[in-house]
Amino acid sequence: MLTRLKLTAMRDRLDGLLDEAARCDLSLRETLALLCGAEVAHRDERRIQMDTAIAKFPHQRTLEAFDFAAQPSLDPKQVRDLAACRWVANGDALLIQGPPGVGKSHLAIALGREAIRHGYSVLFTSATALVTTLVKGHSEGKLEQRLSQLSKPRLLILDEFGYLPFEPAAAHLLFQLISRRYERGSILITSNRVVSDWGTVLGDHVVATAILDRLLHHSHVLTIRGDSYRLREKRRSGLIKATPVPAQAGASE
Ligand code: ADP
Ligand code: MG
Repeated sequence: MLTRLKLTAMRDRLDGLLDEAARCDLSLRETLALLCGAEVAHRDERRIQMDTAIAKFPHQRTLEAFDFAAQPSLDPKQVRDLAACRWVANGDALLIQGPPGVGKSHLAIALGREAIRHGYSVLFTSATALVTTLVKGHSEGKLEQRLSQLSKPRLLILDEFGYLPFEPAAAHLLFQLISRRYERGSILITSNRVVSDWGTVLGDHVVATAILDRLLHHSHVLTIRGDSYRLREKRRSGLIKATPVPAQAGASE
């Protein structure tokens, strides 16, 4: 019957769960809750796995693995708050800006995972790949199709905006996407450029203003400062030289 009802996790773990219920002297209600809990947990796990595959994250990164002590410019409370995903529920934008190597992509992936855990669909793409998709879609007469695909995920993560300048046509295409998603889905953008540079990045100040107008209307910003975490690790392991520290009294002993 459990097979027919497709309660496969309950079926597969039935003996163990019933033994556990007996051992813990659970009431009928508690036993039923234990069995249903196992099924629900299994389905959640499977859904998270599938949605994670669909999101196409380039790496596995988690908030637990993020070293906040190494990044004092970030407020852990603000990040934890974002991990609760109310901004995704509201369709807000999140901008993570800072120099290379400070953990922007790490946080973007980690927050993307949190969004999936909270039941939202996510798609991760680099700004370059997104532009390529849009430009190609445009030239093949499939722009509408691409825009509608890219508007479906509740959270679109656009990584590395600003590393490469846009060609002028691309800025217009990005604008179309942002307007399409505006107040419907969230967008998370990581960038090494501050907002005032976006006109230069996009090669079009009018389009940049129009994009920013929509993005910043309901938005959150994380600004990360400081040194590259990658280089810091290398410096620690002695692979590259540490910044010389002034000699201290007694250091020559
Ligand atoms: P960015 O996108 O800002 O260039 P990344 O997120 O790619 O930087 O970070 C570079 C590498 O350093 C990644 O492997 C990332 O996981 C790691 N990293 C960066 N900052 C931290 C941190 N505070 N704690 C743990 N790992 C970090
Ligand atoms: Mg990055």
